[in-house]
Amino acid sequence: MPALASWPKPRYTGRIMPALPTAILFDLDDTIIQAYAKPEEAWWRLLERFRGELPDDADRFARMHRAILEEGRTFWSDPVKAARWRLDLAGARRLVVRRALARLQLADDVLADRIGDAFTELRRQEYKLFPDAHDTLDRLRAAGIKLALVTNGAALTQRAKVVRFDLEHRFEHIQIEGEFGKGKPDPEVYIHVLGRLGVPPQACWMIGDNVEWEVVMPQRLGMRGIWYDPHGMGLPADSTVRPDRILTRLGELLE
Ligand SMILES: [Mg+2]
Repeated sequence: MPALASWPKPRYTGRIMPALPTAILFDLDDTIIQAYAKPEEAWWRLLERFRGELPDDADRFARMHRAILEEGRTFWSDPVKAARWRLDLAGARRLVVRRALARLQLADDVLADRIGDAFTELRRQEYKLFPDAHDTLDRLRAAGIKLALVTNGAALTQRAKVVRFDLEHRFEHIQIEGEFGKGKPDPEVYIHVLGRLGVPPQACWMIGDNVEWEVVMPQRLGMRGIWYDPHGMGLPADSTVRPDRILTRLGELLE
């Protein structure tokens, strides 16, 4: 028997869970592929490319970076607006940069739109699969588990990711907000997926990086909600959300 200290740390955070369920639903962005994490670092890198056209002293450059992040947070904090604009991320980014430049008395919509579009392109170029994503999906499918992909966002953008990362044949059902007409956390999104898979919520896990969309609502509907925390950030200390399980790698599902 191994010494106590060498036992693996328990991963289960809530109720007792079976080893694997009948069906698993996966989020796409920042769950299967790295897409939108670390905006501070990505915006800084992008703005560096525009240094020649932006205020050149370090302090004003840093203020511009901060203004974009703050305007972005404000922009996305309104759930009604967010639901509309996540179907047009490029347009949203243009608006955010326009507002940030205006706030710094540097209003220039043409420049703002070029910066916004460059950021959209930077993100697109840098999408990449989490290293164990394909292997985990293939092994789950080989074990007879029904898999669905449930993603918010525009039809064209999300469909392009599905094709680029060779995901189509790995799922029994793929549901994209822009195609289906409703997005997470609308319960109808989940009810429709369960219907397509032919499984009751109790036999199903949802895995994703957004606690409200992919843990809270699935749990309310009787599913297990698993939070994917690839950067090991942990839940905020004041969070009342209790994921059924927390993963830092998808492959942990099969360990
Ligand atoms: Mg996500």
